[in-house]
Amino acid sequence: MRQSTISPTLKSQLKAYLAKQGYELSEEAKLPGKSGVEHTFDILAHNEANGAKRSLAIDFISGEKEISLEQVVVFDSKAYETGINDKVIVVSPGISPKAQKFAQQQGIKVINSDKKDPFKAVLEKEEPKAPKTKSEKKQLSQSVQLEALKLIPEVMARRYNAIPVAISGNTLEMAMADPTDIFAFEAFSALCRMRIKPVAADAKEIREAIDFNYKGYGEIEKQISLVTIPSEATEERLAITADTDAPLAQALNLIVEEAVKARASDIHIEPEEDRLRVRYRIDGTLQDMMSLPLNIHLALVSRIKILSDLNIADRHRPQDGQFTAKSKERDIDIRVATAPTVHGEMAELRLLDKSVATLQLSELGMLPDSLEKYENMLKVPYGMILTSGPTGAGKTTTLYASINSLDCLERNVITIEDPAEYRFKDINQIQVNTQAGITFATGLRSILRLDPDVIMVGEIRDAETADIAVQAALTGHLMLSSVHASDSTGVLSRLIDLGIEPFLIASAVIGVVAQRMVRRICPDCGHLIEAPVVEQIAYEKETGEKKAKFLYGTGCKSCAYTGYRGRIGIFEILTMSDTIRMMIVQRVSSAEVRTQALKEGMMTMMNDGMRKVKEGITTPSEVLRNAYSTG
Ligand SMILES: [Zn+2]
Repeated sequence: MRQSTISPTLKSQLKAYLAKQGYELSEEAKLPGKSGVEHTFDILAHNEANGAKRSLAIDFISGEKEISLEQVVVFDSKAYETGINDKVIVVSPGISPKAQKFAQQQGIKVINSDKKDPFKAVLEKEEPKAPKTKSEKKQLSQSVQLEALKLIPEVMARRYNAIPVAISGNTLEMAMADPTDIFAFEAFSALCRMRIKPVAADAKEIREAIDFNYKGYGEIEKQISLVTIPSEATEERLAITADTDAPLAQALNLIVEEAVKARASDIHIEPEEDRLRVRYRIDGTLQDMMSLPLNIHLALVSRIKILSDLNIADRHRPQDGQFTAKSKERDIDIRVATAPTVHGEMAELRLLDKSVATLQLSELGMLPDSLEKYENMLKVPYGMILTSGPTGAGKTTTLYASINSLDCLERNVITIEDPAEYRFKDINQIQVNTQAGITFATGLRSILRLDPDVIMVGEIRDAETADIAVQAALTGHLMLSSVHASDSTGVLSRLIDLGIEPFLIASAVIGVVAQRMVRRICPDCGHLIEAPVVEQIAYEKETGEKKAKFLYGTGCKSCAYTGYRGRIGIFEILTMSDTIRMMIVQRVSSAEVRTQALKEGMMTMMNDGMRKVKEGITTPSEVLRNAYSTG
């Protein structure tokens, strides 16, 4: 379509000008784009003089009347695709105001062929922008365009700490705390199908802009604005508000309901200097969800405390309780913990998922050979099976699933837990209660008098409990418990640290499972994305397979824009062989035991995780982030 009405003289003048400045020119130059399509520019000019490399893409664009926005967008996209930042167009006759504005925003130099001495501007470097002054910085909150804001949902903006600012043509300009985050790019462009132009901005400033601009949780905000906040916050008035104010009750219900919708396991209500922040834990990761006015803080926390039978006047000591919230679909049991912080009392609400209590071993995500190994351990009539990992690694879930796999009618199964979150059929559960004198150790002692076959102790964390547990395992009981250690062999050293004789460990322990939870890729928004080199190397090391692109979720409605939905365990299972038992008795180092276990075929969590990457279940970054975590 490009009928060149641009005079040949002008072209040759421009070429002569560039050549004089030391540029090498190629005409009708073809360049491959990122997407694989080849693009042609009228002139490409290269200059490597003075050590500074510079490439210019130049197109001559003419039209009947004026150059349209579309024509400039096409040129800009070609330059973007081929990675050229110095962009020049020579236009004839003129350029439309819209196109002119777009060119300016995208940093395209426009040379008007009618002008005298038109080339001067071609090589002008963009003036480095002066550092933003404080008053300019304040502007981010104010400078967000409503149309742009609509393109990216609040959860996603909070997840990547980025906010859409403006739309120009097919480009969405976004202020980002980390403008090099490739996953954020993929996620944003996949969602709004536009090109993302990042602008670096201060993380705190972006968060303020998100708080200021998004009203995504409109209904919650609305209810909160209706709450009658007592002008004098006396305990009595506060108690009345917390008990009877309908909008307040409604706001809390909505916060819980949103959490259920987002598949959150926890809600954090945290006062900050000037806002009340609400965060959800989704698939194990805390996410900033909303920010509420601070004046609602006392009333909201008091409401939670009243529901859970806590003392609302005492704001200086941690308290915990429980209540049941009615959500649209079902009733949800919520465990509440409050604690004082420098900015006031925070509340943590754990939404209990009843399905955990019925989970089977096969649902934990063990690979077939690991599952077989573990099931064989559970068939041993007595001894000790230990799980390990940091908090949130799924240890309790594995213990519960193990109990579910045992025949609980034929055997007397007793647990001691802190707390006993889930209720089981046919199992006697005892809860730790330090005020009543029930600790893991004293509880375990009394359990032993109840003629148990299988005992589950939530955690072994002191010498006394360790001692009784080992004795129980050696005297005909199947003992299941967890130990805080980073890997399977670390558990054995931890028991030695707790004063257990190595020969007792060698005879009592059947096996150890070290584990972590990794998030599953959302089945609705998986895309192949080139992973960072570190992830590629880690994957190759474990699987022996070279691969650059991996499946990543870019975020959609069904995964609450996290890119992940649900979690799966990664496991390292240590079976006690005769050689390993001997090594423990001889007190060899934990590193040597580990080497031996690997020699005997133990799969590490990293290896297990990368096998799950290979199957497209999770991402290399999830495995790397979790396999080494020690919490
Ligand atoms: Zn998704």
